[in-house]
Amino acid sequence: MTYRFNAKKTRFNVSNICYASFLKKNSVNNSSVKDLVKYKKYPKKHFGQHFLKNKRVIYKIVQALENTYKPAASILEIGPGQGALTDYLLEKYSVTAVEIDADCVAFLNEKIAQAKILIASDDVQFLDYEDRVFQTKYSRLNIIAQDFLKYDLNACADFHNTYVVGNLPYNVGSKILEKLVYEPASCAVFMLQKEVAERVSGISYSRLGIFVQARYDVQKIIDVSSNDFAPKPKVESQVIKLTKHDRLNNVDLKKLDEYTRIIFANRRKKLTSLQKSYPVLVQKLLAHDIDLNLRAEDLKKEVYYVLAMN
Ligand code: SAM
Repeated sequence: MTYRFNAKKTRFNVSNICYASFLKKNSVNNSSVKDLVKYKKYPKKHFGQHFLKNKRVIYKIVQALENTYKPAASILEIGPGQGALTDYLLEKYSVTAVEIDADCVAFLNEKIAQAKILIASDDVQFLDYEDRVFQTKYSRLNIIAQDFLKYDLNACADFHNTYVVGNLPYNVGSKILEKLVYEPASCAVFMLQKEVAERVSGISYSRLGIFVQARYDVQKIIDVSSNDFAPKPKVESQVIKLTKHDRLNNVDLKKLDEYTRIIFANRRKKLTSLQKSYPVLVQKLLAHDIDLNLRAEDLKKEVYYVLAMN
């Protein structure tokens, strides 16, 4: 597969006579092109909208997915926005994308409608194979207009065989990760705030990292500069890849969630401080010969897994 980084072709308003004629014939106006400009001007802060503009980064994300992609796996994108990443994914895969912002949904749905009109028109026969793939690829996109946090993953046929990808909104990145720990995907490639990514991979000690690593191996893919987004975020980013493992399937996630929350809420205090409020947990610690004079931040992640084992 060849990725197209040709500026002319990567823009939505492909300057192609067939495209122009089908727009005319089917009286689809070019409002989405205006919308694109409008969205670029007014990204919605509360939805964490920082749109990717560096194609090298997009390529790295798609490549990270592709390295372990198994035929028949499905692709689920979280927060497609204006389709910066979706555009490249669609060159090879069918994509289901969950987007919360009704304006982005309308924008992408228009692209889907236009691709379908082209497929149904006579013009499609004048396109060579590559152009046909390129100009009709949005017909392979299925948009779900919903908050991903409320999205029922059981609605995804065979979710365990799904690859999840996304340039995640910073405000809900951790919650999205937690959801995907309870319902693990086969693999996920995410752009996150660098500080959060380093917690997830364990570079910095954190509850989130311990929780995610109970179900996934975490690998850093690439650091991403804030200059690679529009608008520019205040923080740096990092792309990480999560690959599901089965080594800790006997760890009860609810218990792990509960114990890590309790212990991390008191991370600078000695474990003895938990005795009064959490006697059951303290009994467990003692049963595993854990010294109660330790502080939460001194406990290795393996201790949490042992405590939460069934
Ligand atoms: N994928 C696009 C890109 O890379 O340019 C957009 C990424 S932007 C950082 C995050 C996207 O997630 C936005 O389109 C935003 O509207 C969407 N979003 C925010 N919260 C969401 C949620 N809870 N569920 C689904 N989408 C969400």
